[in-house]
Amino acid sequence: MRLFAGGASASKTGLRLYSAAAVLLLLSQAVLALPSRSIADSVLSRFLRYVVIDTQSQPDAETTPSTAKQLDLSRLLVWELRDLGVTEVVLDEYGYVYASIPSNLPASHPARTAVPAVGLIAHVDTSPDVTGTNVKPQVITAYPGGDIVLPGNPAKPLRAAENPKLRPLVGTTIVTTDGTTLLGADDKAGCAIIMTAVERLMKDPSFLHGDVKICFTPDEEVDAGTRHFDLKRFGAQFAYTIDGGTTGELNKETFSANSCVVTVTGRDTHPGDAKGVMVNAMRVAAEIVSRLPKDLAPETTDGYQPFVHPHEMTGDVGEARIRMLFRHFQTERLDSLKRTVELAVQQVRTMYPKAVITVDVKKSYRNMADKIAEDPRVANYLFEGARRAGANPYWAPVRGGTDGSDLTEAGLPTPNVFTGGENAHSIHEWVSVQGMERSVQTVLETLRVWVDSVH
Ligand SMILES: [Zn+2]
Repeated sequence: MRLFAGGASASKTGLRLYSAAAVLLLLSQAVLALPSRSIADSVLSRFLRYVVIDTQSQPDAETTPSTAKQLDLSRLLVWELRDLGVTEVVLDEYGYVYASIPSNLPASHPARTAVPAVGLIAHVDTSPDVTGTNVKPQVITAYPGGDIVLPGNPAKPLRAAENPKLRPLVGTTIVTTDGTTLLGADDKAGCAIIMTAVERLMKDPSFLHGDVKICFTPDEEVDAGTRHFDLKRFGAQFAYTIDGGTTGELNKETFSANSCVVTVTGRDTHPGDAKGVMVNAMRVAAEIVSRLPKDLAPETTDGYQPFVHPHEMTGDVGEARIRMLFRHFQTERLDSLKRTVELAVQQVRTMYPKAVITVDVKKSYRNMADKIAEDPRVANYLFEGARRAGANPYWAPVRGGTDGSDLTEAGLPTPNVFTGGENAHSIHEWVSVQGMERSVQTVLETLRVWVDSVH
């Protein structure tokens, strides 16, 4: 899902350095008597409670949420928030959970009136790609290294060779599936991380923070996570989605995206006397696809490279349709991808002058980078928070969109934070408990940076 693996290279020196850092961190935590153990316990037990609830969403539904079963988790989150003492909690008619934790800064504190309200967002649904019914998480404490057998599907183990990100996690706790479902770390890890951070805010009055706003959304996986997002009710000036992957990875750049439909109208006749009359729309469509540059495809590009992706072709002799995705990190250059398609269409028109070919482009989502750069605090404070949390943060571009792309465009700058989850939307999905713990600490430290940075 995400690009650019973390810096955890597996050289021997790297591993040794890693252990030394881990030992130092453990020592410092012991000295400060921070409730770090309890963060790991709390986030894991919440996570295990949430993943057994089936919340799969469904594309092309008329309703929000797209499936009523998502509400099973939304309602549990409402109950748990109230149980933690959060009084302002709402489950709205679309299945969005909104909660608000007022600032506990004393009136004399310089940040009391100056620190903005900061939001935390995760989604309750899981992907329609893989079943989320009867998830049986497998908790591996003190992962010994090597392949991990998935008990419900021994033929398809989680292979260490295909999952190099497992290597630095030897000795730590990993949660996998049983091999028959997805895990749902995307994004129940995010839900558990936010709830664990809320627990800390509610139980530790010495932790000073500004207004904190929480939202759990439905239907992110079917591109409807922000359809009914009520920015006013949410009330945050800056926010973070907790919906990323590898520990330490932060995202403030996504693709800008358009979708494109090329429609070819041909001419169908009886094939027995078709000579010179029939225009086969399928042949025309195939000709167009074959002329799209092959070095501008998702299967041949990575990092910051753009692509044109024909992902669906339907039709018959009379009419054919090609659906494509345009993706570019530079919004202003999205049009160049349209021109690439138009060039191919122009060439094919001269070959098939009787075919009618139209190109229709629609806007999808936009790169959040430009708006985030307007007030870089939201990104800089997150990075500093992750650094203080010992997460070794780094920025990575997302070759896709996040709910933060839409929210940022709507005026709420929303970078994305790692959860420690990997292999989303598959039976090989797994999550690092240490990663979830670092994410909780990143969230808490980031809230602290917001307070500390107000002068
Ligand atoms: Zn997600």
